[in-house]
Amino acid sequence: MQIASRRLTFCYLCNNRLAGAGPTIREHVIPSALLGPSPVESRDQWPVVVPAHKKCDERLKQTSDRWIKILADIHTKGSADWAGPDRVLEMPARPALLEGVGGENPVPIFTGLGEVISGGKSWIRGLHAALHNTPIQLNSRMAVFPPVPAAGENGREPTFEQSESMSSLIRCYVSHASAIGKWNGITAWGGTLRFLTVWTSTWCMWTLTFHGVEEWSRNVNGVGNDRPWCGFYESEPPPGAAILSETDLQAAIDAWSWNGVSPPKELLRFLA
Ligand SMILES: [Zn+2]
Repeated sequence: MQIASRRLTFCYLCNNRLAGAGPTIREHVIPSALLGPSPVESRDQWPVVVPAHKKCDERLKQTSDRWIKILADIHTKGSADWAGPDRVLEMPARPALLEGVGGENPVPIFTGLGEVISGGKSWIRGLHAALHNTPIQLNSRMAVFPPVPAAGENGREPTFEQSESMSSLIRCYVSHASAIGKWNGITAWGGTLRFLTVWTSTWCMWTLTFHGVEEWSRNVNGVGNDRPWCGFYESEPPPGAAILSETDLQAAIDAWSWNGVSPPKELLRFLA
């Protein structure tokens, strides 16, 4: 589904009314620095722009957007093309090789990524607002998984194994939803930006891809193993939402294969 920009009256970052709280801007939900070249056809050029308070954008979005750009650059460009060593060090995440994961080829991951990829939560709030014309409640539980392996720190964020199995299951649900035609979404920027969602009674599960995501993921995960961004958030399905039935969920799980093991039962209960 290709949708037009709607006239929103709330700020998707703080959920308050746009009017009467200082200057507003029309904000690229996915930062333009990450979107890639402009589509040839002008009718395809909507880059998902929604309104926000200027101060909310500065306070809640700009820094994490910059960190995500740096993270992608580290994985896709030579160090001479990085933003600069000081910019890389400013990021609150540390690279680590996780021994014992990936067999003979240990998987390079970043630890402590929670703060960095919180920028992805802003993107999802903006995409949901553009798609459904309603905000995601501020206290909704949300999880965002980048297109490369990642792990949390200090027990506050998902471990590497939890991130891997959860993100794999979410990709499986959304891919099944797409295969059976039960999904909502946004296609924009000449078809390179694709946001797919599907719902249970409590959760929205989603995948997101745009220019450069495939290359970023492939550089780290290996050829044939590229991933989109993915995650889930807590929300009642809005009117018109595509909802997976019990049968659909089971069919998706039957097709699930992640290292040849079954999805953890507690994860299935959590998402059902
Ligand atoms: Zn705001």
